[in-house]
Amino acid sequence: MDIYKPLDLSKDAQKLITESTEKVCCLIIGSGPAGYTAAIYAARANLKPVLYTGLQMGGQLTSTTEVDNFPGYPNGITGPDMMEDFKKQAERFGAEIRFGIATKVDFSGKTHKVTIDENKVIEADTVIIATGATARYLGLEAESRYSGMGVSACATCDGFFYKGKDVAVVGGGDTAAEEATYLAGLCRKVYLIVRRNVLRASKAMQEEVLNNPKIEILWEHQAIDLFGENGVEGVVLIKKKGTPQEETLKVKIDGFFLAIGHTPNSNVFREFIETDVTGYIKTIPGSTKTKIPGVFAAGDVQDPVYRQAVTAAGSGCMAAIDAERYLSEYHT
Ligand code: FAD
Ligand code: NAP
Repeated sequence: MDIYKPLDLSKDAQKLITESTEKVCCLIIGSGPAGYTAAIYAARANLKPVLYTGLQMGGQLTSTTEVDNFPGYPNGITGPDMMEDFKKQAERFGAEIRFGIATKVDFSGKTHKVTIDENKVIEADTVIIATGATARYLGLEAESRYSGMGVSACATCDGFFYKGKDVAVVGGGDTAAEEATYLAGLCRKVYLIVRRNVLRASKAMQEEVLNNPKIEILWEHQAIDLFGENGVEGVVLIKKKGTPQEETLKVKIDGFFLAIGHTPNSNVFREFIETDVTGYIKTIPGSTKTKIPGVFAAGDVQDPVYRQAVTAAGSGCMAAIDAERYLSEYHT
């Protein structure tokens, strides 16, 4: 005997959503300068791009104030305003911008499957990965308290604001050495806060730092807090932590720069896409092509070296052109 079974709404609705699939010609993942630029070019090439923004709509620049080095803005512009302009320009040509996160991919077939928010599956002829990279922070509460008020993870971007002032850079690798040297060209004094008694940076970069009279290395120091009324005025450090010589000290600074590495947002793709040891997606030199035909990578997620808005935008343009050529050559 058949017994009437009421629908389990939550389960059935979930099943319906799970089964919802959509076919698109060009799927762009990420809404930073790389993703939006790819969307502008792909839309103009009639690829009808669909772009998923991820959690941070507009990307890393939405977390900064002034952007002074992006060409075309002679008076500078705030990061959020600039990214709103990128979005409007992509929409003007018909790019469809949607809120959602790529949570799973399957690049094993000719059509690439990308799951959004764990339920909707997009089948795409081409995929442009533009998910960026995230600067690592120490995890101090003070880093968020002084965000945009003296804490930065990009000396090339924000160094200018500290011209003639005293700053500190945390880290002992090539990035820290490079940023400290760059800042020494602008600032009065640069403290390099190194947690061990050696630098990880290459010999050549070490030489530059050690020979620069404006840079003072604080060996075996760790930053534990920041202080200041309306912005950073100093850093609290522990020297030789865990030893009998341990001491706490305060150093006056105006800017606090993190240079302890970046994490590329490539985890979700790693089963199918080749990355370097840090997680940067490997592209075929001179292009944005990955080893998977029809899947391209642009911006910081494939760039361990430059990581600038303009270079990200440039590679977003390249990715859309690569996708267009792939479609016309191989996908007819
Ligand atoms: P991002 O801007 O990092 O954008 C990545 C996008 O991918 C985001 O929209 C995110 O939501 C999305 N995403 C991530 N994972 C997923 C997923 N699984 N599914 C869907 N979407 C996803 N550069 C300059 O040239 N000038 C500056 O003045 C400058 N200032 C900076 C200030 C700060 C504080 C920071 C942090 C960086 C600054 N930069 C600056 C660097 C610049 O922001 C980056 O180089 C640039 O944003 C990289 O662009 P992108 O498109 O590759 O990635
Ligand atoms: P990295 O080589 O991983 O160095 C990170 C540095 O930050 C290390 O010195 C590390 O200390 C320190 N660090 C990490 N976490 C810390 C914490 N919680 N507190 C204090 N210090 C911390 O990263 P990177 O310097 O960004 O370089 C990444 C890659 O890019 C490297 O391969 C590098 O060679 C390359 N790169 C090359 C150039 C160039 O050639 N011009 C420029 C920049 C970067 P420990 O040493 O104690 O681990």
